[in-house]
Amino acid sequence: MSPHNTTTSPWTARPPVVAVLGHIDHGKTTLLDQIRKSAVAAKEAGGITQHVGAYEITHTLPDGTQKKITFLDTPGHEAFSKMRARGAQVADIAVLVVAADEGVKPQTLEALEHIKASGATLLVAINKIDKPEAKPEKIKQQLAENGVLLEGWGGNVPHQEISAKTGKGIPDLLTLILLAAEVAELKADPALEAQGAVIEAHKDARVGNVTTLLVRDGTLRKGEYVVAGNAQGKIRNITAPDGTDVASATFSSPVVVIGFDTIPAVGETFRAVADKKAADALAAAFLPVHPHTKFGVGVHTAVPAPAQASAENAGGEKPTLHVVLKADAAGTKEALEKMVSDMDFPRACVRVVKSDVGEVNENDVTFAESTHAVVAAFKVKVSQATAKLAQAHGVLVLRSETVYELADELKRKLQELLPPEVQRQELGKLTVLATFKMEKAKMIVGGRVSDGKIKRGAKVDVKRKGTILFSGKIIQLQHQKEDVAEVPQGRECGMMIVPHIPQDKFIEVGDELAAYEEETALRPLE
Ligand code: GDP
Repeated sequence: MSPHNTTTSPWTARPPVVAVLGHIDHGKTTLLDQIRKSAVAAKEAGGITQHVGAYEITHTLPDGTQKKITFLDTPGHEAFSKMRARGAQVADIAVLVVAADEGVKPQTLEALEHIKASGATLLVAINKIDKPEAKPEKIKQQLAENGVLLEGWGGNVPHQEISAKTGKGIPDLLTLILLAAEVAELKADPALEAQGAVIEAHKDARVGNVTTLLVRDGTLRKGEYVVAGNAQGKIRNITAPDGTDVASATFSSPVVVIGFDTIPAVGETFRAVADKKAADALAAAFLPVHPHTKFGVGVHTAVPAPAQASAENAGGEKPTLHVVLKADAAGTKEALEKMVSDMDFPRACVRVVKSDVGEVNENDVTFAESTHAVVAAFKVKVSQATAKLAQAHGVLVLRSETVYELADELKRKLQELLPPEVQRQELGKLTVLATFKMEKAKMIVGGRVSDGKIKRGAKVDVKRKGTILFSGKIIQLQHQKEDVAEVPQGRECGMMIVPHIPQDKFIEVGDELAAYEEETALRPLE
């Protein structure tokens, strides 16, 4: 063999993953539908394309080369906003959609903040240019006033004028996306163990936990063990978005897998590991991002805890709260260590990763950060500078003056590690008498409340002949054309429902809507 061709780089260019964000009604859903539709039409593919949270298309560049792009198929996808807190990056490129007739709106700016924080490359799509009242130049100026300097407007943010409705400009937008991907030099290695992000997850009565994974690097194979947060399992089945079963998947493909033992959180990172032991250890060492963090930021990422901590948890499946303990005196320190280590409950336990006497200092904070621990400060000072540092690094410092206080705080933190208990409260039922606007992302229907009451903000199951077709949420409720908060039994009302995921099915006259509310409560430790 010639010595010249033995060393090739294992790295290959990776297709970009794209999220679409922007103000409501600016055309995000229409754009995503249009791109998907033309891709399917181009391939003349029959078959069912399922909504799995993401889809893949192939775009032909002006020079004739064909390249793939993966789109997250829900506007402002939940995974996109959650990934930051969870340390995962889902999208490489974010397309900010701004309607040319309306311009920059509050949610445009909100989306912009998300994009900046995510580190994704920003592209702007100025939409609805087919409308006579469209003023694309004015939009560019508005964007500049808000710090988004487009190419040709004193900056380097690529942009494209489009009509999501007619399709105009969309091929150019796809080309821009591929150019931006090239600039970002997205690389991956198929020989590595797979890793990526959880895009969707739900429980299916027939097959168990169904999870959409977006592979961002490596190759995922049937039979491998995967871990996402504290969920883990052996992959029994991999399905491509076109519904075909595949033996493996590589970047940046969305695939539906079966095999997780519990439902992982959307936006969580996942990784394939060597064997069950490694999967158990990683999952057990995981500390989730919990909503009650005092500082309002994600405290922990899904990065595995250090080997030592994981090893101790090998074989165990309990969530573990890591604690850096600081006490006021040596005697107290020992007593507290024992007390804290004894906090071993059937569902979760505490592990002291470091303990010391004295004020909480910078080292404690960095140590806590790297071991995904909370700092328990018992009768000791936390200087303002240290508190600030902790806040900046997302490390939680729990201060207590009594043993009871400390025990209570730690127990509460432990409870927050467990998935909350969700209790469903039935509100009422409604029979659909008329349907109005039927779109994938919003449906307007009217009907009569046959039982209980219907409330604005309630969740609904859409049932036909007793089978649930899909679920959604009531975002607007009207009685005799007036907005109301609730409508009692016997009355008629109109409502706007946003489906939980874009629907292929629509509500029909005669369907029954079952409205309910969900209450979440902390799960008991034993
Ligand atoms: P989203 O809330 O951002 O997902 O917006 P939608 O995609 O649901 O679009 C809101 C409305 O704008 C719908 O009635 C679309 O038909 C319409 N729309 C979207 N894109 C265009 C466009 O390019 N031109 C025109 N004229 N209407 C559009």
